[in-house]
Order: sequence, then structure tokens, then C-alpha cells
Amino acid sequence: MVSLASLTLRASLLPRAAFASLKPRNPTQPNPSLRLVRRTLASLSSSASSNDFTHVIIGGGVVGLAVSRHLAKHRAGSTLLLERHNAVGTETSSRNSEVIHNGAYYPPGSLKTRLCIKGRRLLYEYCEKHRVEFRKTGKWIVAQTPAQFSALEGVYNHGTSHGIPLRWLSVSETSTREPAIRCEAGALESPETGIIDSHSYMQSLLGSFTEAGGDIALGCNVTGVEKLSGGGYKLRTTTGGEEMEITADVVINAAGLGAVKVGNMILPKEQHRKLYYAKGTYYVPLNKPPKVSTLIYPAPVPGAGGLGTHLTMDLGGNLRFGPDVEWVDREDDLIATEKNMVAAKEAIRSYLPGIGDLRPDYCGMRPKLQPRGGVAGVDFWIKKEEGQEAWVNLLGIESPGLTSSLAIAEYVDELLYK
Ligand SMILES: Cc1cc2nc3c(=O)[nH]c(=O)nc-3n(C[C@H](O)[C@H](O)[C@H](O)COP(=O)(O)OP(=O)(O)OC[C@H]3O[C@@H](n4cnc5c(N)ncnc54)[C@H](O)[C@@H]3O)c2cc1C
Repeated sequence: MVSLASLTLRASLLPRAAFASLKPRNPTQPNPSLRLVRRTLASLSSSASSNDFTHVIIGGGVVGLAVSRHLAKHRAGSTLLLERHNAVGTETSSRNSEVIHNGAYYPPGSLKTRLCIKGRRLLYEYCEKHRVEFRKTGKWIVAQTPAQFSALEGVYNHGTSHGIPLRWLSVSETSTREPAIRCEAGALESPETGIIDSHSYMQSLLGSFTEAGGDIALGCNVTGVEKLSGGGYKLRTTTGGEEMEITADVVINAAGLGAVKVGNMILPKEQHRKLYYAKGTYYVPLNKPPKVSTLIYPAPVPGAGGLGTHLTMDLGGNLRFGPDVEWVDREDDLIATEKNMVAAKEAIRSYLPGIGDLRPDYCGMRPKLQPRGGVAGVDFWIKKEEGQEAWVNLLGIESPGLTSSLAIAEYVDELLYK
């Protein structure tokens, strides 16, 4: 077992990319701001803490980065981000549609609705301020049948009741503005929807986090947890094959596809949860596709597990289609294959009849808290578990987690400190 003190010495021996400035708190030189945090955390711990860090965040995806940055910037004490890979944002956060959603799809009263709407506003402000590239492309949800049109009415009523700007488009307006798009029953336009360079966004969050004094340990896998009698938690980790222990006053579990496994480490066996996986494959055109400049989504199908095989584009204007939905057994089933391409092409052809041949491009994995056919629209799980006042679990952070990331960070802060 390696102690935290020796860890800092060893840090210089590790490749810089794999381990960035892990600084333990020095108990012989109490930090005034730390005392403040201890006071704030008085309800969490009755005695003064001797833990290594005030906050430890497990998982360096977009959500863990946003939470880490927020706590490092706005709360006193030390903040450490642990990520099992040698770089941040290599899992679900880099395998998505990069769409800044409007929030109109999700159930009334849900965290998804609330955090997406707030997160969208915060994200656009963040991109402007920190020069992260984005574009408000707008988005259409298109209906081909009266039944699909009714589904759009549900989105419209829900969205407008939450102040989300939405506008009906007639069939003739759609054919004038996007001649390549088939729309037989009408469309709903969301002018506030956009696209973002998610990689630049995550790099920006990481820069802002370290500037605020946060520390990050890459290549550091959390393998076990013990609740400490004096307050806080001891995390067992492995880095480069070596075991280490890190203690923290507060732990935030933002481990994405690993979050249920990590969350189970603090729960009695009978309360263990199971995660389900819905793979989404993206396809790109083999030849020059018809020209389209708006994001196009099919009408939503309740309980489908996704938003339908939609048309999005990157900031260079290159079209991509997906993700489709395929329930799989493993989180690492991430090879894009042609297996479901015929069905995907059929779905795309319903709104883009001129689409030519496609090839599979990449996949993402949705962390689902319910199996196929389970409760439709299940919400984000962002909670302190019973009896775990200093531990926040973030489970099932599927779409719109990217859009919601900055609002999730504020929500976690509220759960801990307000
Ligand atoms: C196909 C698809 C399309 C999507 N499209 C959109 C979209 O257009 N817009 C939108 O808003 N959202 C979208 N999302 C959702 C969005 O991508 C996710 O909500 C978001 O990326 C989740 O971020 P995260 O940080 O929670 O998880 P992740 O990105 O998975 O990060 C979790 C991190 O935790 C680390 N980790 C796991 N276990 C451990 C451990 N034991 N120890 C240390 N580290 C660990 C992992 O290595 C990983 O880096 C989409 C999702 C999918 C799957």
C-alpha cells in the first residue's frame, strides 16, 4: 500500500500526462479557508477532519469536470479529481451527438427538464466567455403522420409551459428552407438548439479547474470505499498497478458507466443497483450527402430509449446520423458495426429520402437505470444516499448530460451546502 505522502514524491517519476500535481493538504499548516469549509461541513462531521482532501470527485467526464471546477472555484478547501484513464473525457463524454438540447423532451418536473434548461443557458454563456466553439444551428422535429404530429404537440405544450422557445413550421416552409428534408405533417422548430465542440469544452473546464487550484490524478481507478468513523471516506485506488488510499471529507461519484459499480461500494448488498446499457451507433454518408443546415430529429417515440436516429452535424458542417438504440450486455461493447445499418438507413430515409450509402462511424453507450421496456423517461439520479451525508451519487447520466453539465455542478453544490 502506498501512502499519500509518498505519492507526491512519486508523482515526479510518472509521465506528466498521467499524473498532474497531486498535492495533499498539509495538516501542520492549517489553511484558513479549510477551516471555513470544516465549519460548513459541521453537519457532516463532528470532529475536525484529518482527511487528505475536502472534495474528491470520481470520474473525469464532462460532468465530473464541471462539478470539480465548480467546487474548486466556489468552495474552500482542496479538490481532487480521479480518472481511471490517462486523459479526461474519453468515455461517454466524447461519444455523443454534441448537441446543446433545449430541454423540451423530458418528463415534467424531472431533473432532466430542469437541469437541461438551466444548463443550456449556462453552457451558451460559458462558451461565449471562454471561447469554446459552438453554433446555434436550430433544430426541427419533423412529423410524417397525424400520430407523429400529436407527439410533437406534446413536446410543444411541455416545452412552452417551461418557457422554451418553440415554433410551428408549415409543410411549405420546411420545403422552402430545407428542400432535401421530407416533412409531410408539419414540424416544430427549436431555435435555441445548437452544437458544441465537446472536446474543447472539456479542455476548457479542466484548465479552469486547475487554475482554481484543483488537482487531478489520471490513470487512477477507484476500486474500493470505506466510510470513516471520524467523517468522510477512504478510497482505495490503483494507479499504474500500485494501490493507494486517499481520504476525503466529501465524495462525488460521477463515474458515468462505472458509477453504479462505485455507488454499490457504499451500499449494503441487498440495496445494490444494476446498470443496463443501450448502445448508440452513428453513421456517416459514403458520398456527398444532400445539403442540410439544420439539425433534424424524427418525432419522439415514447419508451424508445433515445431521441430517434437523427441528423446532426459537426462544426465543420459534416453530417452524421444516429445514434440508434441497441440494448447490449457490456459497457465496453463500443465497436461500430453494420449490424443495424439497414434499419438506421430506413429511419433516416423517412426524413431524408435522398440519403445514399452510409458507413458506421462510432458508438456511445447510454448508462440506463432501467432495462429495455422499463419505466420510460427515467430521470437522472443525483442524490445523497440514505445515511451518506457526504457522498453524492450521480447515476444514469445519459442525454442531456452534456447540456446539463454546468447546472448539474450547481445542483451538487446545493445538495452539499445549501
Ligand atoms: C449516444 C449518446 C449521445 C448523446 N448525445 C448527447 C447530446 O447530444 N447532448 C447532450 O447533452 N448529451 C448527450 N449525451 C449524454 C452525455 O454524453 C452524457 O450525459 C455525459 O457525457 C455524461 O458525462 P459523465 O461525466 O457523467 O460520464 P463519462 O463521460 O462516462 O465520464 C465518466 C468518467 O468516469 C471514469 N470512471 C469510471 N469508473 C471509474 C473508477 N472506478 N475510477 C476512476 N474513474 C472512473 C470514466 O473513465 C469516465 O472518464 C449522449 C449520450 C450518448 C451515449
